[in-house]
Amino acid sequence: MKILKIDHIGIAVGSVDERKSFWTDIMGLSFAGSETVQEQKVLTAFFPVGESEVELLESTSPDGPVAKYLEKKGEGIQHIAFCVEDIEAALEELKAKGVKLIDEKPRIGAGGARIAFLHPKATNGILIELCERK
Ligand code: ZN
Repeated sequence: MKILKIDHIGIAVGSVDERKSFWTDIMGLSFAGSETVQEQKVLTAFFPVGESEVELLESTSPDGPVAKYLEKKGEGIQHIAFCVEDIEAALEELKAKGVKLIDEKPRIGAGGARIAFLHPKATNGILIELCERK
């Protein structure tokens, strides 16, 4: 598998509106927009950092994955996303290596990227996302 870069760091927050000013006014990043990803029950907000992004994640539903994360762990880094050249090949390779996956097939994430999550049990507790952008 060829990882090209860290695509984004996903940070779970209670409210994007409330947390946005820390990333803009204090950290000096620019806000590049937000998007609701219905399937993951999440509102995402993007703050580019070089070739990567900080991505804030606010749950849009009490039964979404980010809501569950907040309940268990509170606000903080929820996942790290790596950009790969070929997501299908990467998933095949991981499967062949016996790595447990949440997504066996890529699905569509924010910005139209094809994404897939590895199971945190297979990664020593880190939720890892792979993504492929055209
Ligand atoms: Zn992500």
